[in-house]
Amino acid sequence: MADVQSLLVANEKLSQEVLRPGADQIDQSRRFPRENIAALGKAGVLGLLVPAQFGGAGASLGEMSRALDTQSQACASTAMVTLMHYCATAVIAAKGGDKLKQELLPSFARAGHLSTLAFSESGSGGHFYAPVSEVRQKRLSASKSFVTSAGEADSYVVSARKTGAAGPTESNLYLISKGASGLAAQGRFEGLGLAGNASAPMTLTDVSIDDETRLGPEGSGFQSMLEVVLPHFQIGVASVSVGIATAAFQTIVARVGARKYEHAGGAALASIPRVQFLVAEMALELNSARAYLAETIRKTLAGDPTAMLDVLAVKVKAADACLNVVSRAMTLGGGWAFGRRGGLERNFRDAQAAAVMAPSSDVLKDFMGKVCLGLPLF
Ligand SMILES: Cc1cc2nc3c(=O)[nH]c(=O)nc-3n(C[C@H](O)[C@H](O)[C@H](O)COP(=O)(O)OP(=O)(O)OC[C@H]3O[C@@H](n4cnc5c(N)ncnc54)[C@H](O)[C@@H]3O)c2cc1C
Repeated sequence: MADVQSLLVANEKLSQEVLRPGADQIDQSRRFPRENIAALGKAGVLGLLVPAQFGGAGASLGEMSRALDTQSQACASTAMVTLMHYCATAVIAAKGGDKLKQELLPSFARAGHLSTLAFSESGSGGHFYAPVSEVRQKRLSASKSFVTSAGEADSYVVSARKTGAAGPTESNLYLISKGASGLAAQGRFEGLGLAGNASAPMTLTDVSIDDETRLGPEGSGFQSMLEVVLPHFQIGVASVSVGIATAAFQTIVARVGARKYEHAGGAALASIPRVQFLVAEMALELNSARAYLAETIRKTLAGDPTAMLDVLAVKVKAADACLNVVSRAMTLGGGWAFGRRGGLERNFRDAQAAAVMAPSSDVLKDFMGKVCLGLPLF
């Protein structure tokens, strides 16, 4: 069994020594961060959420958040790959059958097995909980529009309507191995940011489905998405946003201190009151997002019945804060930042993903309004 604290220390060390130095190169060449994932796997960090009985650390949402925050300060593409793996881990651990867990989870903890989620379909877009594909005669054909680690992961948690479903919420989740006949990645998405996370469409053509790889009882997919995947995903994306904003904040604080003006007797950009004011506003945004993230984690772990509103809101709050902080940092960085120095421009592109990742910020605000008004979510 791995110890949570030592895995977090290993994650910190790898983030500094492996992820950070390679981040610009991974971004510019738009390649999957294979060496980062291999190093995290070797150190056992991919097993952070695996229950202790299967050789993992059995970490909580709070520790997951810390690991992702640390990684995204160094390389957000790698953090997003890890986040989707953690979401897959959580739902396999919570809903998978004993045989599947015995076979699979020890390799997550010790052999660097990488998993991910394949939920989104063009037929339902950002409404991630509503697959249009359906299992028929134990076979699944589906077109998944946007999968992180497509073609790179060792397994995929795939959503589909159950056979004969009356609607999109009568669904199942299945664990499908990378070697499954009929499963294929379809090129790269070439996204604006998170350029290394190998997001791409995937197709399933007549893929064989069996009950042993179904996560949970027949028809329980929608419930699993809401109960298990949603909190991990929302808190995870918020952690990545907070990490990106922290990196940009630290970069710009160093930059405004180092940027000196000869015409003003060597005065630093940091000596201008307006700059101090903008940095203070950035600190406020970042610290309030970080505090709200901590509070959301606390309430979720405590089983607080009002935590659902926070789980929905935390991704919106962190995505907005990140966009504001990084945009301000780009402005204060001037030509230096515009010239792609210091990693700020990468932070700026990476920061855009959180608001569009499903559920998008706009869809989340719909849900939040319903929760506030006591209306049913679906
Ligand atoms: C970097 C990245 C990685 C991803 N990784 C994965 C992954 O690993 N697995 C996976 O399954 N998916 C993944 N996705 C897909 C993602 O979760 C979304 O499904 C996708 O971004 C939605 O795209 P869409 O264009 O189809 O949205 P659309 O549904 O076309 O939405 C377009 C716009 O309309 C708005 N909109 C839609 N409905 C409403 C509404 N009711 N109220 C208000 N506004 C609304 C949305 O907010 C959005 O701004 C990833 C996406 C990104 C960007």
